[in-house]
Amino acid sequence: MEVISSYLPSAGIGYEFESIHLNPMTFLEMTQYVEGTKDISPIERYFYDIRMLTHEDANILNCYIMDIDFLIFYKKLISVSGNSSLTITIQCPTCGATLKKEINLDTDIHFENIDEKIMAGALVELGGKRYETRVPRVKDLLKVFDVFKRYSRVNDLKMMKTISLFKDFDTKSQQIEKDVLGATRGDITVLLALRDLYFDRIEPVKIFCPNCNKGKPIEERRSVAVSVDSLIVDFFPAVTLNNGLDGSKILFKQVS
Ligand SMILES: [Zn+2]
Repeated sequence: MEVISSYLPSAGIGYEFESIHLNPMTFLEMTQYVEGTKDISPIERYFYDIRMLTHEDANILNCYIMDIDFLIFYKKLISVSGNSSLTITIQCPTCGATLKKEINLDTDIHFENIDEKIMAGALVELGGKRYETRVPRVKDLLKVFDVFKRYSRVNDLKMMKTISLFKDFDTKSQQIEKDVLGATRGDITVLLALRDLYFDRIEPVKIFCPNCNKGKPIEERRSVAVSVDSLIVDFFPAVTLNNGLDGSKILFKQVS
């Protein structure tokens, strides 16, 4: 299947390819996936997902990080569903009730509109130094991940994504790491603003608890927000729990 670049959270601005090629996982691939990700941390699983996508389309490496969560979600979705929807289960944080919701790609997954102006990068001041930022791509994040795995004590995906924003990471990795991890006051504000601009562009899915909202007018109803990046971490166990076998697929013979 082809995912057209302009449908991605980045709207494909600056891409040299028109689409990304992704296929549903086969039974063998899914079995290998479940085995291969059984005992690894959420961060390792994230990079496992990225590598899986890279095997199908090398342009994944040139995708912006802002698009990759959606692509991982999409890959998993088409692997389990033929109609671009799946049912998820969450617990209401207020009353503990189990909530089920069918999420549909077309009606429930929305991106914040991208402003073309931010796609050329920016100049920021951090730790008293001036840095140039870029719209980080998957290959940039992989480099940060490699360096962090080897040298750093920090195992935080958001920090790695933030550091990948800096254009000179290849030559000044230690200095950038120090200035980002050690940022204080105003510098923290700058980093948080950059995160807002370049990551997490998929709006959380809203789920309403019927218990907690019983009898309340629409404007007073409170929803539980579920983010797509939280959905992709434990995707397959949740999917097999919720999206049971279609009864028409197996016809049992009658015992005579
Ligand atoms: Zn509730």
